[in-house]
Amino acid sequence: MLPQAVMQQAQSELLDWHGLGTSVMEISHRSKEFIALTEQAEIDLRELMSIPANYHVLFMHGGGRGQFSAVVNNFLGQQGKALYLVSGSWSQSAVAEAKKLTSDAQIDSLDIVENINGKNQVVLPDLNKIDRDYRYLHYCTNETVDGIEIFDELDSPWPIIADMSSNIMSREINVNKYALIYAGAQKNIGPSGLSIVIVRDDMLELPSLPQSSIMDYRLAVKHGSMYNTPPTFAWYLAAEVFKWLKVRGGVAAMAKINLHKAALLYDFIDSSDFYTSKVSVKNRSVMNVTFYLTNEALNGEFLNQASEEKLVALKGHRSVGGMRASIYNAMPIEGVEALVEFMQDFANKHKA
Ligand SMILES: *Cc1c(COP(=O)(O)O)cnc(C)c1O
Repeated sequence: MLPQAVMQQAQSELLDWHGLGTSVMEISHRSKEFIALTEQAEIDLRELMSIPANYHVLFMHGGGRGQFSAVVNNFLGQQGKALYLVSGSWSQSAVAEAKKLTSDAQIDSLDIVENINGKNQVVLPDLNKIDRDYRYLHYCTNETVDGIEIFDELDSPWPIIADMSSNIMSREINVNKYALIYAGAQKNIGPSGLSIVIVRDDMLELPSLPQSSIMDYRLAVKHGSMYNTPPTFAWYLAAEVFKWLKVRGGVAAMAKINLHKAALLYDFIDSSDFYTSKVSVKNRSVMNVTFYLTNEALNGEFLNQASEEKLVALKGHRSVGGMRASIYNAMPIEGVEALVEFMQDFANKHKA
């Protein structure tokens, strides 16, 4: 979901951007107008996330998955080893991609989700007790499919790389704790086709192997994320979303609203024996609320009736089943209230 105000702004200036008589899609990415847009986008993102000066901000291609291979190719070379924490399907996919590009001995992975009293919970190992020399530790702060979020900061002896595709800018984080943060834009920032990379400058001194130029962080830094033609329309929309976030009070203000939205939904689920959550309270995602109907035979009817109420995209990922409400920054409280009301009505009708 994108903020409606941003979509309306884009609509109003689609054919004539900044009085140039052309669309932002039609001008050169090297024109001074577009460069000004990208500079402002970086300033706004740095402000929103309090990104320190020793970090580069890159706007790249290839979505979240593109970064699965980029981190390997940029940092591991032929010898480097990395540790991957697995908390759900996206971090598992990151491991699979890393293994594809390296020899198996280079990639270690640790499953960190345990089933405790029927609920999935993240149990972090003591990383300082692992006596191995890793170039980085990779993990996913929010497992979009599973609805599992890790709120604790990791205490890691190795540089931390975090996939924040689905919870970037949903709450405040300390960027200093990370060596690299990446996010596909389409969950919480803008349209697909763009990914954001925030990388500490010392990471770029690690040895890398020859690799695809468009995914090379060093080249992206050198060319201001314009080694090749960037996804300009996605970049423009992301820049508008950053402005929208700033007007609304930034990430801290969004975090408050997001907690409120998630609590509305989880509190209702907990109060009902018609619905259930399989994630422990400690790790319930604020962005992706996964839940199940106790009577799964009603799943189809639930989805059909929800879509009649214009409540869409509630079907859980096929790998986990059930339901998932993705309530990203752009989802207003009213949307969550409407869902809770629908769920209540649906439960009442089927209990009788
Ligand atoms: C969606 C998602 C991805 C993959 O994003 P693509 O842009 O489709 O490659 C990776 N990680 C997480 C956590 C995601 O939510």
